[in-house]
Amino acid sequence: MAALADVHGRRLRNLRVSVTDRCNLRCGYCMPEEEYVWLPREEILHFGEIAALADVFLDLGVDKVRLTGGEPLLRRDLPRLVAMLAARPRIADLAMTTNGILLAEHAAALKAAGLHRVTVSLDTLDPDRFARLTRRPSHAQVLEGIASLAPAGFTGTKLDTVVIRDVNDGELADLIEFGTRAAAEVRFIEYMDVGGATRWSPAQVVSRQEMLDRLERRYGRIEPVVETSTAPADRFRLPDGTTFGIIASTTAPFCADCDRSRLTADGIWYLCLYATRGIDLRGPFRGGAGPDELTALITGAWRARTDRGAEARLAVGNRQPLVQIGGLKRDPHLEMHTRGG
Ligand code: SAM
Repeated sequence: MAALADVHGRRLRNLRVSVTDRCNLRCGYCMPEEEYVWLPREEILHFGEIAALADVFLDLGVDKVRLTGGEPLLRRDLPRLVAMLAARPRIADLAMTTNGILLAEHAAALKAAGLHRVTVSLDTLDPDRFARLTRRPSHAQVLEGIASLAPAGFTGTKLDTVVIRDVNDGELADLIEFGTRAAAEVRFIEYMDVGGATRWSPAQVVSRQEMLDRLERRYGRIEPVVETSTAPADRFRLPDGTTFGIIASTTAPFCADCDRSRLTADGIWYLCLYATRGIDLRGPFRGGAGPDELTALITGAWRARTDRGAEARLAVGNRQPLVQIGGLKRDPHLEMHTRGG
């Protein structure tokens, strides 16, 4: 079968599966509120349902699957889902994004279950700043989690840092150097005006160019790493050979090559991080739709996909947060922690 492509010729390759909307952190750029509307428990997909839906996506060309959330390690028995997905050889890249808090206790089981790679979100090396940023005192556990990966046999570890002006933008070099010691590559993410980022302002965004300028002042000439993959991070090399990435989703979006889509924990499929509406797969699936009907639903939606959400945001003058708090409360699917970052 010819590869499934959308209106702009973008293939369906990369599926991010949120396994829970719950999180054990309350990062100010993602979950700043005191109270949240959670997805009803009975609507959360069982592992068998996730695996069955994954099979439909694999048939259509998906070969990269990332488990995310919320915090994926809050989902009980996650290694069992990992083992189910790892048994599908068409998944060339099976990864997970986690905040790392529960990683040390699960790293060995995740590796044994067949998880390929782990990305840990790490915004700061300072425990006090971590506590202010996340409203939880769990920095030491995150560092333990990162330290547990190499002994468990993981390679290709990444550390994702959301860079926010006057919060953690003084730590770029320290984080790169920490990454080297931890055998992990750091990727700096521009602060995005998406989901729960109701306190976002353009002034807090540190652009890719500014990050590079600052790092060049510190280290000298920085070379781009030339590669052909469609990964959203632009990678760079310091004079000593250390590499790092920058995901410039806010100032230089990668919509033109975006092959990502997202399945929420309750089975709603989003074709763009910025999309305001998704496609319900749980309803038809639980209503008895078989693989052919689901294939038709997914194929039709992807062929019609025109989304270039981050570019559309870039074109907005006087940019404010995408969704206000009232909108998030009415539809928690608009939250980053529901949609799966
Ligand atoms: N709990 C897991 C974690 O912390 O990695 C997975 C879910 S979290 C929503 C996924 C990623 O989204 C994290 O790296 C987080 O920093 C990022 N994120 C959340 N809100 C963001 C925002 N407004 N701008 C940029 N990245 C954001």
